Amino acid sequence: MKAAFLRGPSDVRVEDVPIPKIGRGEVLVKMKACGVCGTDVEKTAGYFLTPPVLGHEVVGEVVEVGEGVEGLRVGDRVFTHHHVPCYKCHYCRHGDYTMCEEFPRTNLDPGGFAEYFKVPAANVKRGAVLKIPRGISFQEATLIEPVGCCIRGAKKLSLQPGDDVMIIGAGPAGLIFAKLLKLLGVGRIFVSDLVDFRLAAAEKFGAEAVFNSLREDPVLAVKNLTHGLGVDAVIVATGSIEAIRQGLDSVRKGGTVVLFGAPLKGAVFSYDVSKIFIQEISLIPSYSTTELETNMALRLMETKRLELSGLITHSFKLDQVADALKLAAEGKESLKIIITP
Ligand SMILES: [Zn+2]
Ligand SMILES: [Zn+2]
Repeated sequence: MKAAFLRGPSDVRVEDVPIPKIGRGEVLVKMKACGVCGTDVEKTAGYFLTPPVLGHEVVGEVVEVGEGVEGLRVGDRVFTHHHVPCYKCHYCRHGDYTMCEEFPRTNLDPGGFAEYFKVPAANVKRGAVLKIPRGISFQEATLIEPVGCCIRGAKKLSLQPGDDVMIIGAGPAGLIFAKLLKLLGVGRIFVSDLVDFRLAAAEKFGAEAVFNSLREDPVLAVKNLTHGLGVDAVIVATGSIEAIRQGLDSVRKGGTVVLFGAPLKGAVFSYDVSKIFIQEISLIPSYSTTELETNMALRLMETKRLELSGLITHSFKLDQVADALKLAAEGKESLKIIITP
């Protein structure tokens, strides 16, 4: 079968490898579609903040079921979350599931950018495999994981109905946040980015006002729109250090800034910490998701409460993974990019 491997920085190769053999408790899935995530781009560039396995926003059809697997059958259409927590360790007992040491160790083999992949027994057993209802296409179902990540980030905002929120970065995650926050009952949503194409998409996804940071200062813009107060919460949906500064400067006193985009490994941030203290600003990171939120994501999509058409702009064949990653890395006139077999 064909599968993509990262053989060095910016060296993605599609190679011919044997179809993985499954054992007890494991499941073999035929890939139908897999989204390209910002972390795939970061891994390809040589920064390994997370394990170097490519493709995790993946859906497919079960083609083989190991001994002892319950509740899954050949032919089931599934979303398979690549990581699963142990639910027993110190982190898990505190609800910090994505910090569980087992979380990054459980992974799909060889990854989502492959014709077939094996789902580990732990993921199958602990509920990381979700059946996709008939009304949801494989393409749409690739959004379950990114939507789950955004739900987890949104839960950390401690929002009240009517609150104003600023989203910095109008990539796929920023746009999902815009739709999700509207559902959660926020007031106005402001979005900033450096690319007009993406800002136009943000307007379609429900932004009240958008700012191109190349042309205007987003901090001044949101201050003007909030009588000088600042917004109640900010989501930094990009790994840019400058965006974190803008987030801290745009939030009101007592407000929350959620760090959602992955900064580059080793990125150093300089800021007047006294301001964070005296203004009681909460700076909260949100990394990844678990089946707690992927189930919520699936439910929102199944009930058509969260409608994300227009988010997937490009589709590439497995052979062209390297081109897909290149387009995603440019971050310009594309939004969600997916890979199909
Ligand atoms: Zn992802
Ligand atoms: Zn754990």
